[in-house]
Amino acid sequence: MNDATTPVPQVRYETPAPHVARIVMARPEAHNAQGLTMTYQLNAAFDRAAHDDDIKVIILAADGRNFSAGHDLSGDGGSTWRDFSTIGTWAGFDAKGAEARYGREMEIYLEMCERWRGLSKPTIAQVQGKVIAGGLMLAWVCDLIIASDDATFKDPVIDFGICGVEFFNHPWELGIRKAKEFLFTADEITAQNAEKHGMVNRVVPRADLEAATLALAEKIAGKPSFALKATKQALNHVQDVQGRKNAQMHVFSLHHLLHAHNELIYGMAMDPNGLPPAVRDKVLARVARAKEAAAKAAKE
Ligand code: ZN
Repeated sequence: MNDATTPVPQVRYETPAPHVARIVMARPEAHNAQGLTMTYQLNAAFDRAAHDDDIKVIILAADGRNFSAGHDLSGDGGSTWRDFSTIGTWAGFDAKGAEARYGREMEIYLEMCERWRGLSKPTIAQVQGKVIAGGLMLAWVCDLIIASDDATFKDPVIDFGICGVEFFNHPWELGIRKAKEFLFTADEITAQNAEKHGMVNRVVPRADLEAATLALAEKIAGKPSFALKATKQALNHVQDVQGRKNAQMHVFSLHHLLHAHNELIYGMAMDPNGLPPAVRDKVLARVARAKEAAAKAAKE
């Protein structure tokens, strides 16, 4: 079983100040790309902080130059859902057709993000460098985001024929009009711009990021624990009665319609035309060969 106790952890758990836990993504060589191992280790670390009555505030930080390169699509060393304790009830990870992908993304992206967003204690994302696609989800599930002045945010999935990452919080983070520009163009936005639109609480110099985040955590940790939890729930509930969760579920269905569309045309969940030209040409050639072989087989 892989969890926060595996011999080669991808997540570190620290207690840098009284009543403060810091959960650190510790895979800087891969720009903290998030595979199954990191996902379930993060979940175990969040659980540990949630269940420790002495902890009142949780920081989510990352080692290295970049906060997160997004989802790790390299296969995670062959890990499968069987290697971890799943948290949802959709299952069907080995099913045929669209069912497997829907169940898998429901478990590791949507339900996991909702679970972390719903943690009773205030959480603060400490963000530096690049935050790309799935990386946005990690920052967005936190209650507060402190960014260094070199941080940038980007959701490029439209280039791959998809309508935004699975935890579709863009309009709640940026407002509808900026969210449309962010998604239509796939352009990155700077920390300063993100702060202007309300997605980031504060921008600080890179050298001050850790200290500024910890100082904020310590200030919050000085408040009464139950009142913090109630205040967090009150504000999260406001977003939910405004329709956030309903909207997320609608977009999740569209997201999977597009995965299925790409699968029908390209034989893969994403449109390869968004890949770098050299890789794209190889993938398109492979798709053409597979189609040719299928057509030949159908004639015989
Ligand atoms: Zn997806």
